[in-house]
Amino acid sequence: MSTLQPVRGTHDLMFDDIRRHRLVQSKFAAIAARYGYSEIATPIFEATEVFARTLGDTTDIVTKEMYTFETKGGESVTLRPEGTAGVARAFISEGLSQQVPLKFFYNGPMFRHERPQKGRQRQFHQIGAELLGVPTPQGDVEVIALADHILHELGLKGKITLEMNSLGDLDSRLAYRQVLIDYLSGYRDKLSADSRERLDKNPLRVLDSKDEADKEIVRNAPQFPDYLNQASCDFFKGVQDGLTALGIAFKLSPALVRGIDYYSHTAFEFTTDALGAQGTVLAGGRYDGLIQEMGGPPTAGIGWAAGVERLAMLLGDLPPLARPVAVIPVGEAEAAVAQKLVHRLRHNGFNVDIGYGGNMGKRMKRANKVNAVVALIIGEDEVKNSAVTLRLLDSGEQSSVSMAELEARLDLYR
Ligand code: ATP
Ligand code: MG
Repeated sequence: MSTLQPVRGTHDLMFDDIRRHRLVQSKFAAIAARYGYSEIATPIFEATEVFARTLGDTTDIVTKEMYTFETKGGESVTLRPEGTAGVARAFISEGLSQQVPLKFFYNGPMFRHERPQKGRQRQFHQIGAELLGVPTPQGDVEVIALADHILHELGLKGKITLEMNSLGDLDSRLAYRQVLIDYLSGYRDKLSADSRERLDKNPLRVLDSKDEADKEIVRNAPQFPDYLNQASCDFFKGVQDGLTALGIAFKLSPALVRGIDYYSHTAFEFTTDALGAQGTVLAGGRYDGLIQEMGGPPTAGIGWAAGVERLAMLLGDLPPLARPVAVIPVGEAEAAVAQKLVHRLRHNGFNVDIGYGGNMGKRMKRANKVNAVVALIIGEDEVKNSAVTLRLLDSGEQSSVSMAELEARLDLYR
């Protein structure tokens, strides 16, 4: 690998790519604010423990995907692979437990060492939301409604399906776990090596295996919903009724389990057919045990994260960029006047372009290239009369405008 290439799985974001990212992030920030979520930016690296302990030591993320290194001080730190653990850590270390319910949203880079492919990078970006301290189905309904809202706002309605499952409470999970162990043990020899290990440490994880042979075995496995106790069923019904009341359609997916250990009750994903194998654009669930597991007070939580790269790939045309005003000095003699005018207009709120050299023809070409709406041409006569020649670039129509009235005229073409 040449050191002059970006590291495998990382990308430079520029031009339309970064505009797509910013569009996703800014629309999300605006919608999240309507729901009362405030922004949080946790560090992009944390003590390794923050992730290793919470995500679970049999998850793909912890076993294979983390960027972990030792600092000069000898501490083990990890580039964050996801956002929830950092938010939970902040909740505890900032002592926020008296302030629940709390609503946070975030956006930023995440890092996972996995095989790069379309829709799968080693540095990627997520937007996400977390609702802390709301143990009732109302909370699930709100965060899912927020997810649904941002996807609609991005014009993805119709391209995306909401899939849901319930992982139940602890009792239900223990009951199902045993049934699953009994079933999978019959296929132990046919499971992948990873799944054999999962079977011993955390059998639920086998349901989420990407291995084809594992998937075949999982297809006939007993299903979670059949082992939910009454309380878990009631909870899930509350979530479903709430979504139905809001007109948010969903599909039940009994095999949906999330890739991370700390989930309970509701698990959900928004998926699309439009991205090939990387079809999950947004995923989340309830994690009532997480904060306590990390050493904080028992605190309910529910949240989700969406991949910005995957969302960006689904966006249609970008809105057009604001068209600048181009200032064009005819000759060297007018350059200084032009420069001053550019400065004045920029300070008065206009988006102004000026070529850095060349004759009038070359500068005109540049004005067209930057899609300027008007050109302000400054020649000898214009300087003498304290005016400019204003040319509308779409029609070619020209008129003389005095310097004093210039801003008022330009306001017409914003
Ligand atoms: P997958 O099954 O695709 O590996 P995941 O279950 O690991 O996804 P989550 O941890 O739930 O993903 O992350 C939420 C979202 O973040 C995903 O739905 C996806 O849109 C995005 N995402 C996750 N990993 C990557 C990656 N390596 N590159 C780009 N986007 C990603
Ligand atoms: Mg993954």
